[in-house]
Parts: sequence; structure tokens; C-alpha cells
Amino acid sequence: MRRKLAAGNWKMNGVSTQLAEVEALCAAHPSPRVDLLIAPPATLISSMVVSAANHALEVAGQDCHGEKNGAHTGDISGEMLKDAGASYVILGHSERREDHSESDDDVRSKARAALAADLKVVICIGESLEEREAANTLEIIAGQLAGSLPDILTGENTVIAYEPIWAIGTGKVPTLAQIGEVHDFIRSKLQTRFGEGVGRSIRLLYGGSVKPSNASEIFNVSNVDGALVGGASLKAEDFSGIIKALEDAI
Ligand code: PEP
Repeated sequence: MRRKLAAGNWKMNGVSTQLAEVEALCAAHPSPRVDLLIAPPATLISSMVVSAANHALEVAGQDCHGEKNGAHTGDISGEMLKDAGASYVILGHSERREDHSESDDDVRSKARAALAADLKVVICIGESLEEREAANTLEIIAGQLAGSLPDILTGENTVIAYEPIWAIGTGKVPTLAQIGEVHDFIRSKLQTRFGEGVGRSIRLLYGGSVKPSNASEIFNVSNVDGALVGGASLKAEDFSGIIKALEDAI
């Protein structure tokens, strides 16, 4: 059984006052029946770990470098995230791929470095609107999976987030059939490459405009093991509604 996961990505949002939302979220879910994860800006990782002390909520970085250390001004290593108290890192988010020209090779190097630093990884993949409209979605997803995933992953240390770029922050959501088609496809690719057992154990999140109002139907799609949530993870009340929907889907 794959344990469900609700993950929030705060992106470049939040200073220390925003931690009140995490405290409210922890208070609202003292014993969550799903895994909870939030990726704040790197400046808030250590203080979020304190805010979530004695709670199951885990903290993630939003990116890390592919090298262990060195002359890379402005970058952050997996070891640094781990040292700050993070247990996961999000890699290959479409905003990193677009804003920083990150390739699948970059994402794979980063994933290797993160796993070597004993972090778990959430690897993001997803097609653009043009690719979707050209009926190239599955081909794009296959290429990103082949290129971005290292060979050493397991169901314990790796999560994959399917995030159609056109659904991120836009309020547009694929149909349930479209989500199901891509998640089933990812599952079968993982089983082919990593074997039945490992392929079956890797959690698959859907991401892109998930809200309390649409979460339940998305969580009932096959092979959706949770969500990666941007905007709606910034407010405890909204993220809480998504967490409840995920708990109801168990
Ligand atoms: C994201 O950034 O990963 C995301 C899914 O954003 P949103 O929920 O705001 O669409």
C-alpha cells in the first residue's frame, strides 16, 4: 500500500510571519492519516522545522545543486537542506525548468546528489499546452521519466509529481480521464524500468490548480496518491481542506 501524501510548494512566497499558517495546519491535523510535506523558501526551512516540532509534517527544499559543494554562488546543496532539517527536496519543477533552463540531465544529477545527501526527492514532470494540443503528452512524459530519474531510486526515497504546465497556477485542470491516463502511463513505465515491486511502490502526485473544491474527485482517480499543491498550500484553511479530501480517499 502506498501511503498518501499531501505536499505544499510555497515557491518564492513567505517570510517568518507565514509560519503561523503551518502552526494552524499542525493544530488542525494533530494525527494526520496521510503524509504531510511543505516546501517553504530555503530561508524558512529551519524555522518551519521548529514550528512543526512534535508533528508528523515534514519540510522540503524547492531545489538543490547537483554537486555536493563548491563555487556555486547562490545555490544550495542537498547536504545543506538536510542540515537545515529538510527531509525531502522538490526537483525539476517546471518553473525551475523554464526560469533556469534545467534539463532532464540536470534534474537527474540533482536527484543523485539529493539521494546521496539522504534526502527524499519529489521529481516533477509535465507537458506544456502546445505539447498537449499536439497530442504529444505521453511521449513528453516518457522522455522526462527516462531522462530525469536516476537508476537508484526506490519507493521510499522517490515521489513523482505529474504537473501539466498549463494547469499550474491557472485554475485550469485536466479532465479526470486525462489525469488517469497519464498516471497509469507513468505507473507502467516505472514498472517496466524498475521492476513490478519498486514500480508499484513509487508514489505519484498530481499537481496543478488543486483546491479543496476539486481535490476529492482528483484523489479518486487511479494511481493518484496525493497532490503537489502551490497556491492553495499557503493558507492553512485551504490546505487543510485538501488534506481532509485525501484522508477521505483512503
Ligand atoms: C505547483 O506549483 O507545483 C502547483 C501545482 O501550483 P498550483 O497548485 O498553484 O497550481
